[in-house]
Amino acid sequence: MTDTFIVTITPPTPNGDLHIGHIAGPFLGADIFTRTQRLKGAQCYMVSYSDDYQSYLTRKAMESDTDAVNLAKVNSAKIQDSLRMADIQVDHWLESYENRHFEAATQMLYESTQAQGLIEAKTCFEPYCEHCDVWGYEAFARGGCDHCGHSSDPSQCEFCAMAPNVLEMSDLQCMLCHQPVVFKPVERRMLKLPMVAQALRERLDKAPMRPTLRAWVKEAYNNGLIDWGITRPGEAGLKLYDDEAHRVHTWFMGQAGYFAALKELSEHNEQARDAYELLFRDSTRLVNFLGMDCSYSHVLAYPAQVLLNPRFQFKNAFYTNAFLKLDGVDFSTSRGHAIWARDLVSDACADSVRFYVSLVAPEEHTENFEPAAFWTWRQHIFGVLLPKLASALSSGASVVGSEGVVLSELEGSLVEQWQQSARHDQFSMKGIALVLMQMLVAIEAQLDAGKVPRNLIALFALLGEPTLPSLNKALQQQLTQTERSVFAALLNLRPAGKESTGE
Ligand SMILES: [Zn+2]
Ligand SMILES: [Zn+2]
Repeated sequence: MTDTFIVTITPPTPNGDLHIGHIAGPFLGADIFTRTQRLKGAQCYMVSYSDDYQSYLTRKAMESDTDAVNLAKVNSAKIQDSLRMADIQVDHWLESYENRHFEAATQMLYESTQAQGLIEAKTCFEPYCEHCDVWGYEAFARGGCDHCGHSSDPSQCEFCAMAPNVLEMSDLQCMLCHQPVVFKPVERRMLKLPMVAQALRERLDKAPMRPTLRAWVKEAYNNGLIDWGITRPGEAGLKLYDDEAHRVHTWFMGQAGYFAALKELSEHNEQARDAYELLFRDSTRLVNFLGMDCSYSHVLAYPAQVLLNPRFQFKNAFYTNAFLKLDGVDFSTSRGHAIWARDLVSDACADSVRFYVSLVAPEEHTENFEPAAFWTWRQHIFGVLLPKLASALSSGASVVGSEGVVLSELEGSLVEQWQQSARHDQFSMKGIALVLMQMLVAIEAQLDAGKVPRNLIALFALLGEPTLPSLNKALQQQLTQTERSVFAALLNLRPAGKESTGE
């Protein structure tokens, strides 16, 4: 049976364009995952959307004296443009503001969760600034996280990814006037995570995830799951029944956003009519690519939303990433310490940026991007080695007959390493990139010795396609038809040249 994957990228807040840190996180990982599984014959849809109900967007609009809706539109367009430039091909991108599919999916998940008895109203004490007249649920307040002590907003800690207990946070201040906040009572709807803790744990135990996230889940359970506030009266969010008491915040709506994007995709694209229906099949895996800081919502709340609903049969997988630093320092767009994705792919090329960013991807822990190291690497690989490889390929003749090809020990081992990193349940774009580099090192040694390692070059051309799509499709064109089909059959890949968006 064909494997089916719905691949999601955490929605970026449309308060700015994408920098290289974003690309190194969920964006490139999801794209290379999708291309890799398609190469292996799977059916995939990749979706994301613009996070138009984020309270950071509201704050940015207030601070820059602009309209939040406009700001979101302009930046959503920029983000999509940057993705195209980096050759990151989202099958559907949804704009969530006043989107009927988005509202319907949110309402459906809210009501389904409520019908299971998992939602309850409760009076909470929440941070509030009396000077600025703003609630401090998220973007408008900041203090010390009660779990790890790092600076955090009261919603989800960027450092430890836990949801802070706001009453236990230290030095909580308003982000507009930097005065201490007060605590005001407000009635909120809560998602009763403790009620499903056991069943959720069993579901998560079966879901592929990286060791860092596995350890985080264990820690979250050791801390004890607690009720999670899902409405934010008086702040950013979607008013479900046109009433302030049901203003659902954006972190509750992430999964609804993915579902809505699938629904919109199935309506817009004749070839993807089954996109939404796939959620009802137990052979489908929903593969979330996310920053570690989004774990609380994606790993605990979203599976809980569908856990007791028998219609949703899909299984989960989670691929988290840590942060990328730039020259050893955190990216900061406000301090101008960032490299925009569009600038780098314009100055270099999408393939070289994709390949290098894969090599330094912060899959398990923080990694560093050094522009100087990138340019030195690029000069050698893209300026010298790859042109030499391409010209050796075009001047050499194929030695492969239709009876097949026998791989050397080295070639066999490289293929096996690629296959390990390409697995859907143990995926690593970094692992893939490291194997591709090993191939290049071996190819270079042979070329320097005056030989043309045609088998290795063919393997690089085919297995490197998800990472370097443009260059490797061009390399594949230089192989003979027999080489392409013999290698594709050997590697269990879809025949070269055949594209699919999941027929
Ligand atoms: Zn923390
Ligand atoms: Zn204030």
